[in-house]
Amino acid sequence: MAQILTGAEVVETLNEQIVAEIELLKGRGVQPTLAIIRVGERGDDIAYERGAGRLAERLGVAVRSIVLPEETTTSLLAQTVESLNGDRNIHGVLMFRPLPAHIDEGLVRNALVPQKDIDGITDLSLAGVFTDHPTGFAPCTAQACMEILAHFAIELKGKKAVVIGRSLVVGKPVAMMLLAEHATVTIAHSRTLDLQDIVREADLVIACAGQAHLIDGSFLSPGQVVIDVGINVAEEGYLVGDVVFEEAAAVVGAVSPVPGGVGTVTTSVLMKHVVSAAFKQTS
Ligand code: NAD
Repeated sequence: MAQILTGAEVVETLNEQIVAEIELLKGRGVQPTLAIIRVGERGDDIAYERGAGRLAERLGVAVRSIVLPEETTTSLLAQTVESLNGDRNIHGVLMFRPLPAHIDEGLVRNALVPQKDIDGITDLSLAGVFTDHPTGFAPCTAQACMEILAHFAIELKGKKAVVIGRSLVVGKPVAMMLLAEHATVTIAHSRTLDLQDIVREADLVIACAGQAHLIDGSFLSPGQVVIDVGINVAEEGYLVGDVVFEEAAAVVGAVSPVPGGVGTVTTSVLMKHVVSAAFKQTS
């Protein structure tokens, strides 16, 4: 039976560090504060906002939610971002995406200053991930994968890693972060041929394709470490990952569950980034 890489274990350690750092900030008279921008009333945005709000309250991070109607314009949204850029009481900004189709998402994303870009959405933050010279922050989900690997002391140097997915939110940044840790990285995607062979030969598999149960036991081999980023709704209505968990657990060395894996860690990483941004902006 594989080792189960549970998010709760990682979160416990992360949250302890975050609470200690918040105490230091409060001692200096700084209240770390996250602004959340939501456009419209998408159910998954609202659910994430609630979860983040609960964790923030528990840890001592203040949250200011800004909700704009679906018909908001690009210029109004960019102005909202710019006003948060100039607000000394806001240390980090999270903006839910995708934005409505009529909004110029590139323009709005890049209106945010990288110092407050705690979810790595600006081109400058992403450039920092690719150059190893951070100007902002890495995307929280990609960072959550790295936190799990670090927490469970998984060796990356010289290991063959395959990342299944090439989005800017997870696939590409996590591939660069693994490369920075000296893994030999293959990025697979929807046009990749022989995915099964590529995955079977890897030491580490990061599944972030957003395809329910794409990776079953036939893709996997003994000793592998599998991080499942996927959050998909199964036909029966419950959440499943990109990996068939039971089949993976019977074959590989270690696997992260869904739910209870990367998603759990991502929210704590968000808080860690807000606290880190607050330190940088006030020291
Ligand atoms: P996306 O749709 O932007 O990207 C998916 C990527 O997977 C694409 O690059 C595509 O080429 C690749 N892909 C799709 N089908 C494939 C296939 N059959 N074989 C190989 N590659 C394939 O999605 P995203 O925003 O990167 O999110 C990916 C998954 O991660 C989703 O399930 C999403 O819900 C989840 N996610 C989880 C968290 C978290 O906190 N745990 C955060 C963000 C996203």
